[in-house]
Amino acid sequence: MKVGVLALQGAFARHGAVLTRLGATAVEVRTPEALAGVDALVIPGGESTTTSMLLEWSGLADPIGERLADGLPVLGTCAGMILLSTRILDGRQDQVALGAVDLDVRRNGYGRQIDSFEADLAVAGLDRPFHGVFIRAPVVERVGEGVEVLATIDGQPVLCRQGPTLVAAFHPELAEDDRIHREFLNRAFTGA
Ligand code: GLN
Repeated sequence: MKVGVLALQGAFARHGAVLTRLGATAVEVRTPEALAGVDALVIPGGESTTTSMLLEWSGLADPIGERLADGLPVLGTCAGMILLSTRILDGRQDQVALGAVDLDVRRNGYGRQIDSFEADLAVAGLDRPFHGVFIRAPVVERVGEGVEVLATIDGQPVLCRQGPTLVAAFHPELAEDDRIHREFLNRAFTGA
């Protein structure tokens, strides 16, 4: 199974290492040609306004939208969660919202004082807490009907799933814990 990691900008390298550890073939995606060869995709953290511009310049925005509409399994972390949402608050006017998960998210929504923090999260389906590393993370302000909330902090969703789309406000690739990537791959490739 070939899993693409969008590698235009940001925190893509660690995802590749986790995916490889789990037995997947990780492919860095920078072009529509590279995208065409993958069976699943990770959209990493970074700066979502910059990634958005690079998605347009690279010609990847439309093909990614088409693959998502066809059911491509996708894991989005932090900026990836923002890009995959329906509506982005405090983004750029022209920022790409891929709409694979029916959420409204506010960029940098945790505010200045706690713009980076760590927290142990109770995650639905996992028997032990997952250590969440949050870096200028988005806050989810609306959850659509088809969205399952898998973890929250103070009542705010931080891990959500809609069909083949899994999004985290935190950085699971930084946790030395592969369980969220494993869940993603299991669902993507076995439907489990
Ligand atoms: N604050 C960033 C943004 O708006 C996201 C930060 C991250 O991905 N760690 O895109």
